[in-house]
Amino acid sequence: MPEDIDVVVIGAGQAGLATSHELGLRGVDHVVLEASEPGSSWLGRWDSFTLVGPNHTVRLPGAPYSGDDPGGFMSRTEIADHLQAYAGRLGRVRAGVPVRRLARREGGGFELRTDGEVIRSRVVVVATGAYQRAVRPTAVAGLGPAVPCIDVPSYRNPAGVPDGAVLVVGSGQSACQIAEELVRSGRDVVMACGRAPWFPRRVGGRDLFEWLLDSTFYEQTPDQLASPAARHGANVQASGAGGGHDLHYRTLAGLGVRLAGHLLAIDEQSARFAPDLAEVIAAGDAGFRFVRDTIVALCQESGVPVPDIPEPGPLDTSAPARLDLRGFGAVVVATGFRSRYTEWIDVPGLVDAQGFPVHVDGESVVAPDLHFVGVHFLRRRRSSLLFGVGDDATATANRIATRFRLPTPGPSTGAGTLRSGSAPRPK
Ligand SMILES: Cc1cc2nc3c(=O)[nH]c(=O)nc-3n(C[C@H](O)[C@H](O)[C@H](O)COP(=O)(O)OP(=O)(O)OC[C@H]3O[C@@H](n4cnc5c(N)ncnc54)[C@H](O)[C@@H]3O)c2cc1C
Repeated sequence: MPEDIDVVVIGAGQAGLATSHELGLRGVDHVVLEASEPGSSWLGRWDSFTLVGPNHTVRLPGAPYSGDDPGGFMSRTEIADHLQAYAGRLGRVRAGVPVRRLARREGGGFELRTDGEVIRSRVVVVATGAYQRAVRPTAVAGLGPAVPCIDVPSYRNPAGVPDGAVLVVGSGQSACQIAEELVRSGRDVVMACGRAPWFPRRVGGRDLFEWLLDSTFYEQTPDQLASPAARHGANVQASGAGGGHDLHYRTLAGLGVRLAGHLLAIDEQSARFAPDLAEVIAAGDAGFRFVRDTIVALCQESGVPVPDIPEPGPLDTSAPARLDLRGFGAVVVATGFRSRYTEWIDVPGLVDAQGFPVHVDGESVVAPDLHFVGVHFLRRRRSSLLFGVGDDATATANRIATRFRLPTPGPSTGAGTLRSGSAPRPK
């Protein structure tokens, strides 16, 4: 017999748990179905993974960071522990229950198929993550068996990468952190660079995130971007490893990583690169200036001294057009992620050309009562992040409570206002 449940949340990462917290506050009966364990996606990251945002940016409703190191950077196991404790307090998670298929029912509501169970639900919240499927560009398709291709989800540590030099494809946060770890372990590393903004970890005595959280940066909405595809753009290059430090094209070049332009093609013997490294670096520097201008505007509006943020120094942009891959141990591909909603959600017209749900404020346009939380740029730049997902969860819970005619309290106070930093903060 199918089980009837008013509201089902799918996924027990930060997005699903924040939604569960907010639904619970409003008295909405629900369950959270989780394919694995709460917070498990963090455990799937490489061994040395840490948050890029400082601990105080963990501002989940009912589970803000409360430790004694707000300016530090939790490891993957610490953040997973934090989410597992959160899930334990909420008490709504059914772990080890993957939803294999979600479809609409005639007359309203949804049918969910798990392994051996059918659930009928009036409302569904999909919170299955912002990093669902690693992209493998067609340029690497010609790679032969002699040099293995390692995607970010399967990279663990340098010892796990076959001996030899490594070609890292991509230059977002993951690519930079993996390239740094490999070159520090003594590997010869070549990086095929994409476009990514960068910024110093600390300016004016404050962490990058403290500035950005006080500014409009993370408030940016999708319609303020240059194009819908810009939602796939890389995050600001930086690292939280070892207490946090700068990590961008110049720091990597300083460590001995050889930078190259975009990867064009690869075969059993060699890799070819576009002659665009200078343009790639210039695009990264444009991103730096955008962040710098955002911080300067914030200071001027707030009447606080503008910190000294020097122009980037010179960088040699001569780069190889071709690379002999003999002697290479692996190619690590870190070129981003895409959604896989349409693989298991049977709703025509669900996503747009970039694979993002077509929605208004998180609710599907083609399937009312189907909600999404934790999507990049769902409502704002911060929508999928530990300090942004709570607001979207609140909005979704309010809409669902209204649908069930339940009272909607104001925003959860647990959304967090913890801040850290030694320098004066703009008012
Ligand atoms: C290098 C790097 C650094 C980062 N640093 C930060 C940072 O400092 N701060 C920050 O906020 N974010 C950071 N992120 C981003 C962060 O990892 C993600 O935004 C976050 O994991 C998304 O949380 P989520 O709850 O939306 O998804 P997830 O954590 O992926 O959770 C989704 C859950 O849904 C489950 N699931 C999926 N499909 C199904 C199904 N069909 N049925 C049942 N369950 C299902 C999964 O098992 C999983 O547990 C970083 C990412 C990277 C790559």
